[in-house]
This record gives sequence, structure tokens and C-alpha cells, in this order.
Amino acid sequence: MSVVLLSTVSEVRNRLQQVHAQGASIALVPTMGALHGGHQALIRHAAMENDFVVVSDFVNPTQFGPNEDFARYPRDLQHDQQRAAEAGAHLLFLPSVEEIYPTLSTTFQVDVGRLGTLLCGASRPGHFNGVATVVLKLLEIVQPERVYFGQKDFQQARIIEQMIAAFFLPVQMVVCPTVREVDGLALSSRNRYLNGEERVAATALYRSLLQLQSLLIAGERDPRQLSRHIETFLGEDERLRVEYVALVDPFTLEEVQQITAPFLCAMAVHIGNTRLIDNMLFSPHGEILPPDRFFQGTDLQ
Ligand code: AMP
Repeated sequence: MSVVLLSTVSEVRNRLQQVHAQGASIALVPTMGALHGGHQALIRHAAMENDFVVVSDFVNPTQFGPNEDFARYPRDLQHDQQRAAEAGAHLLFLPSVEEIYPTLSTTFQVDVGRLGTLLCGASRPGHFNGVATVVLKLLEIVQPERVYFGQKDFQQARIIEQMIAAFFLPVQMVVCPTVREVDGLALSSRNRYLNGEERVAATALYRSLLQLQSLLIAGERDPRQLSRHIETFLGEDERLRVEYVALVDPFTLEEVQQITAPFLCAMAVHIGNTRLIDNMLFSPHGEILPPDRFFQGTDLQ
């Protein structure tokens, strides 16, 4: 199947007006491109549940800090077009920065509040405001029935869910499980930065989450002990630098003091110049839980 490429808001709106007029349901899958199997799983899921799938492919400058990888973030249009088509996308929206942020409008931002200061937000100030802003713009442009996100960016999904609830946006959000390589590494566009040795070391994130599961099964319930164990496990490889490991409430993202209910273990780890994130949802007994029942669009405030 072929996918139509469009780069302006007015082209997308015109095309979607026709789609809408035919009574077709529209899905949006927001991405920053460099499409991989994780993105394709979202696109496939969207294509199963909707008649018409729009994939946005936009490296959003407002979610990168001054010393982050905006300039070197992988961009590969031909590859993306092929991957998107293969997975069943109908329209690939490839706007320029000027198209999404026309004159002066960069001054308008969504402020996501405390949720944007926790976990990854602690080291990436303003990141989630940038993410929420671009997603709001994309939702307004496409006006989909459903929008698809991956569990891999759990904090992002929680923040978007809360934005949808806060602004009464008429869209249903779907969160799909993290897609992994056979050795457990979560698929990510940033995995391309890893050299051979770093790629091997990167499996430690997944292995540390399985380690956590074993500890839970063995009966350990103290969140401080558990996170200490994980940090020690990751610290055994000197190529890794742990930014954070946190056991948090999956709804509020605040650290848990005791483990009596399902929780999220989330982490960010640096390997060389690459920052990787991962997470899993666990029951107190160590069962690994899927993301869907944790996203129902309830307002936390
Ligand atoms: P990105 O292009 O990295 O901004 O990701 C676009 C969307 O794909 C986000 O909703 C991500 O959570 C999702 N995604 C990225 N990697 C994965 C993965 N390994 N499995 C599932 N979803 C993913």
C-alpha cells in the first residue's frame, strides 16, 4: 500500500475533510520519525481500529533542551515512508518547523505543571511542555477519533491523557505495550546512536526490570530496597550512568512509600552520549501488567 505525503496544515485539512465526509474514522500516530517496529506496532493497531491512519513525522524543536540531540536526531524520509506504508498508514504528515510554529506562536505553550517536573522532567526542564504543545497542535490539525502512544514513554502518555481530560479534547487515547528487540532492549530511534559495545550494555535496562520482578516474586516489598538493588545492578557495568530509577504510582507518577498496589518502575540511563529510558508496570507480587487499564482519561487534579 502507498502512503500520501503532505507537508502543510491546509493540505492535511483538505484531505481529511474528504475522508471525514465519507464517514471514515481517523486515527493519529504522532512520531518524530526514524520509524521502527515500535512505531509500526502503533500504526498497525491504529489501522485495525480505524479506517484512515495519519502518521505525523516531526522532530519537534520545543521538546529538546539546548544541549540535547535535536540537530543530530536521525531523519530519513524514504525509510519512514516505506515503514509507514508497510504498517498500513494512509497519510504521512511531514511539516516544517515553520509550519507548526508560525511567526510568534512559539510563545504559546501548554504548561503541564507538576507532572512535567517528575522522572524525566527533572533533567529535561520544559521537555513535556514542548511535547504537550506539539501534540495539542497535531490533534487540532488532524482532529482524529483516536490517538496512539507507546508505553515506552509512559510519562508522556500520562501527561497527554491529562491534557486531553483537562481541555475536554474529543479524542480517545490508546496506549500500546513497549515493543522490544529479542534481547529485551526497547526499540528506540536513539538506539542508532549506540556502538556495538554500548548496544550490548544497553540490555541492562531490561534485565534490571526482570531482576526487580524476581525480587518481588521472592517477597521483597520495600521500594527503597528494590530501587537500591536496581541501581546496584545497573552500576555493575561501568559503561552505564544511572540518571534515575524510580518506583512510582502509575497515575500520579509520585514515588511510592510502600508496595500494596500496582506500580511503575521507570528509569533513565546514559550509555556514552546516549540517554535511554525504559519502564514496566508490576503488580505487588511481580506480575508484569499491560498498560491499557492504567489509561482511562481520569483527571488527576
Ligand atoms: P518517538 O518517535 O520516539 O517520539 O515515538 C513516537 C511514539 O512511538 C510514542 O508514542 C512512543 O511512545 C512510541 N514508541 C517509541 N518506541 C516504542 C516502542 N519500543 N514500543 C512501543 N511504542 C514506542
